[in-house]
Amino acid sequence: MGMISVQEALERILSYVEPLEAQEVPLLDCLGQVLAEDVFSPLDVPPLDNSAMDGYAVQAQDVSLASPERPAELEVIGEVAAGYRFSGSVGRGQAVRIMTGAPVPPGADAVVPFEDTDEPFHRPPSKAHGLARRRVRIFRPVPVGANIRRAGEDISRGQKVLRAGTVLRPPEIGVLASLGRDRALVIRRPTVAIISTGDELARPGRPKSPEKIYDSNAYGLASLVKKMGGMPKLLGIARDTPHHLRAKIRRAAEADIVISSAGVSRGYYDVVKEILAQEGEIAFWTVAMRPGKPLAFGCLLRGEKRTPFLGLPGNPVSALITFEIFARPAIMKMMGKRDWSRPMVRAVAQERIHTGSKGRVFYARCIVTEQDGIYYVRLTGPQGSGILTSMANANGLAVIPPDTQVVEAGEEIDVIMLDWSHGEEWGTRPGFWAQEPYLLLQG
Ligand code: AMP
Ligand code: MG
Repeated sequence: MGMISVQEALERILSYVEPLEAQEVPLLDCLGQVLAEDVFSPLDVPPLDNSAMDGYAVQAQDVSLASPERPAELEVIGEVAAGYRFSGSVGRGQAVRIMTGAPVPPGADAVVPFEDTDEPFHRPPSKAHGLARRRVRIFRPVPVGANIRRAGEDISRGQKVLRAGTVLRPPEIGVLASLGRDRALVIRRPTVAIISTGDELARPGRPKSPEKIYDSNAYGLASLVKKMGGMPKLLGIARDTPHHLRAKIRRAAEADIVISSAGVSRGYYDVVKEILAQEGEIAFWTVAMRPGKPLAFGCLLRGEKRTPFLGLPGNPVSALITFEIFARPAIMKMMGKRDWSRPMVRAVAQERIHTGSKGRVFYARCIVTEQDGIYYVRLTGPQGSGILTSMANANGLAVIPPDTQVVEAGEEIDVIMLDWSHGEEWGTRPGFWAQEPYLLLQG
């Protein structure tokens, strides 16, 4: 078995997975999902011409000569609040007291804000006050159409508002709601079965003997799945026996994709290969990367059903990084996403980085900060593939190409930003969140 490049491994994996079917779900479950329908508007948004200010609806011609010295004086014939309609119409010399969002009464063609009248504009709308005053003085002219939001100016009836393929972020969810929708057709979320393998593993939350270690991979991987919008199904720990592993793998095959960790290297107890050969078509690859060299990939076969299977290495850092590089794109593709790239930055190394990984891409866990528009990068400390805290302290993954043995301080390198913002998918610059918590941690 030869060594294959990261790119080649990724392409092969992606060629095995396809977007899942669409499903109609409640709007609030759609966040981050891919829309599977073109959405046309059944109505105008806003539905009617309405006021953009609290003020007076007037005929612009009545106030065209108004000034603080010679205000125009109009008769107040009523009041209209958002959600109501004024029953009459505004004639020459007349005004209707109007609140933001209220429909502009017929006859009026502009709204004068309270600031430009003799009414103190902080006063709450009230019939008692509004109608008690029969006249209003206006200090400034307004052009026709001033402070009026036109019917359909946001969305017009029949317009294609969102295209199939759009990732639904909070604003798109809001747009759908503004059309009166409480459901949408989206590519469904994949279920991702997660299996940990190894006799040494103990389940967190339970006591363990000193020769065991807690299963951290299942929790880290499940969280990655959850963060990207998939549905992790933790199947627990499979012991290193054919019987136990086979049972887990059969159960896992019901999911949309299976991710296992450990048991894919050359150890004596690595029964994963043997079982996989019986349960499906799996290839074992040596990928030219560090950490995370051994990888198993293929599909499980249960009757008609083919379930993609990805066997990640056991070392906690390797498991998370191979998830990032291979599983994340595969799951994104299943979710119907077309762009799964992470933001990348060119950053200046603040220290000498020795990769020690000839012929393999080195993914270094690092902290990216920004100063005066320049990104700087330093490692999170020891980079052993068992040192999970090296990942926990990182906001980026420096990608050091196979032919580079050493990066000198001051040289520029590419960094994949894992967390561009504070635990959210989009937002602020990397330095924004990287600097402060780390100063606290170090201090
Ligand atoms: P293996 O690939 O089975 O040889 O495992 C490689 C290393 O990763 C060993 O040191 C394992 O103890 C460790 N390891 C395997 N699975 C897990 C897990 N679920 N959580 C934490 N460490 C693990
Ligand atoms: Mg093992």
